[in-house]
Amino acid sequence: MDMIDNRSGKGLSFVRRIYLPRILGMGIGLLSVMAAMAPLQPASWVWLLMLFNGLVWPHVAYHWAIRSSTPYRAEQRNLLLDSLGGGFWAAAIHFNPLPTVTILSMMTMNNVSAGGKRLLLRGVLAQAAGMAVAILLLGTGLQLQATSLQVYACLPMLTLYPVALGWVCYRLAIKLAEHKGRLSALSRTDSLTGLLNHGSWKDLLLLRFQICRQQHASAVIALIDIDHFKTINDTFGHVVGDCVLRHLSLELRHLLRLDDLAGRYGGDEFCLILPDTDECQAAIAMERLREQVSAYRNPQLPELRISLSIGLSAYHDDLASPEHWLENADRALYAAKHQGRNQVNFDRYELAPLKLA
Ligand code: GH3
Ligand code: MG
Repeated sequence: MDMIDNRSGKGLSFVRRIYLPRILGMGIGLLSVMAAMAPLQPASWVWLLMLFNGLVWPHVAYHWAIRSSTPYRAEQRNLLLDSLGGGFWAAAIHFNPLPTVTILSMMTMNNVSAGGKRLLLRGVLAQAAGMAVAILLLGTGLQLQATSLQVYACLPMLTLYPVALGWVCYRLAIKLAEHKGRLSALSRTDSLTGLLNHGSWKDLLLLRFQICRQQHASAVIALIDIDHFKTINDTFGHVVGDCVLRHLSLELRHLLRLDDLAGRYGGDEFCLILPDTDECQAAIAMERLREQVSAYRNPQLPELRISLSIGLSAYHDDLASPEHWLENADRALYAAKHQGRNQVNFDRYELAPLKLA
């Protein structure tokens, strides 16, 4: 089933969005129709129908749609009934030009904004059907002269309604921009940890690489891998595995500076960019992280231990590309694993495994 037919979804907000503009449109549209109808001295039922359409119908339409199991469709039907009514009153006032054009064009504008070409065409057909009903019930007639009262009676509709519709469109555009911002943030975020995801971290790596190259700035990147994470999953289950990943991401957030960029490279591997950092500072920070994580104890899972292997690589001008930089960090990580895990290792100078007291 279409998502917009969902009761709790867009259908209801669509109905709510149309409620106020309909109250306003029907209410001030009533003035135009009444002014054009008065000289024709219609029967009382026509006056009653006019008042119902102008004052009561918006509330009936709202409650009818809101209670429907498919509010979006119910609202589309209501919009067609609006058009049917508009066509009816156009013929009933003998096509008096100003009120007719006012009602029908405002209604059509509403239909286009609510349902595009499809509702535009259906609305025009509904208007024609409404005209046919009025001609059948009230007979035909043509009144091509508008009195000044009739002109004035159309002014509220011609001025207020476009403003109201413009306001609704503006609010919608704001909402759309907010959604776009949220989606864009989501597309850059790893859903489990809230850190940057692989793609956006790599984009930022390219950016940092270019800054370092242009400004001869220093920076260090780190690849962090949880040791024997598969065993953690196998022993304690994947839910605990996920908690460990989240715990590591929290530790990273606590430890890092505002400018540092942490991402989840994939699986149990995390990646960092530490701008304006030299090798010594990076080594100290990563060693602190390693120690802090290895000190983690969970009273409910006393046997759980987490250790990290970390590969570091500092920027230098000989690097051909960000990929090259990343390969160096990867090599350092591989060496850290190879040399016994639970350690921090630098790529370039082939430092002995670093263990600060
Ligand atoms: P090593 O010390 O060599 O890194 O060993 P390891 O077991 O950590 O390495 P390996 O790459 O074999 O295991 C990574 C595991 O991470 C395998 C995969 O099932 C698990 N994994 C990947 N993504 C997730 C996740 O989102 N949640 C959980 N719980 N596990 C994950
Ligand atoms: Mg691992």
